[in-house]
Amino acid sequence: MDKLTVKIASIDKITHDVLKIVTNKPKDLKFTPGQAAEISINKKVWANEKRPFTFTSLPNNDYLEFNIKTYPSHKGVTNELLDLKKDDELILHDVFGAISYKGEGVFIAGGAGITPFISIFRYLQSINEIGNNKLIFANKTKNDIILYDEFNNLLGDNFINILSEEVIDEFAYGFITDDFLKDYINDSTRNIYLCGPPQMMDAVKKQLTRLEVDQNVITEEEI
Ligand SMILES: Cc1cc2nc3c(=O)[nH]c(=O)nc-3n(C[C@H](O)[C@H](O)[C@H](O)COP(=O)(O)OP(=O)(O)OC[C@H]3O[C@@H](n4cnc5c(N)ncnc54)[C@H](O)[C@@H]3O)c2cc1C
Repeated sequence: MDKLTVKIASIDKITHDVLKIVTNKPKDLKFTPGQAAEISINKKVWANEKRPFTFTSLPNNDYLEFNIKTYPSHKGVTNELLDLKKDDELILHDVFGAISYKGEGVFIAGGAGITPFISIFRYLQSINEIGNNKLIFANKTKNDIILYDEFNNLLGDNFINILSEEVIDEFAYGFITDDFLKDYINDSTRNIYLCGPPQMMDAVKKQLTRLEVDQNVITEEEI
């Protein structure tokens, strides 16, 4: 894909460390829900510093949206995004991504690993096909949960939160375990979608192996 420059229409914090960035959408841009693009900031020293971020808007929206967790300590691209304002520009390079919807199942996300699932769930909502899809979302604290209200309204009891650093009555506490997964995954689970940081992905994949889950039902991407 040729490079495409987009202009920021709005940039807001949606949690203490996650930015929602909305831009115009170039008419030549094509993607499917769950896909990402290599993105850089259109400023002299940053234009070639590409990082992958997932589209959280739908392909047929006339705008693009990204939800981006920022890491000021890395002094990298996400730190620089914190200084951007309306009318600043981003450059979109290649579009890619391993996650796409293949049918009803269990989605397991850790932190910013939720981003491919945002677009997929919004897509399913738009065609009235949320069905019995379940979302297990692992975070440190309630304040880290991206789009809590949206997922709660969309999924009700099928939105399952687990927090590793905060005890809250209605949420599970700790890391995901084999026993925890057993409550949501069984022989009839046709699809498992997994996206999160490397350590979490490794741990959950080992748990799924121990639960004798068929590897073919797993769709995964590391974030
Ligand atoms: C397919 C895909 C899609 C993604 N989509 C999203 C998304 O939609 N939203 C989202 O929030 N994230 C997403 N990510 C993750 C996102 O790409 C990274 O968080 C982002 O690249 C971080 O960029 P950065 O420049 O801020 O930091 P980095 O590139 O991680 O770090 C910059 C530099 O900081 C240093 N550094 C690295 N780690 C540390 C550390 N722990 N402490 C101090 N210094 C460090 C290194 O020198 C490094 O070169 C996605 C990842 C993938 C693979």
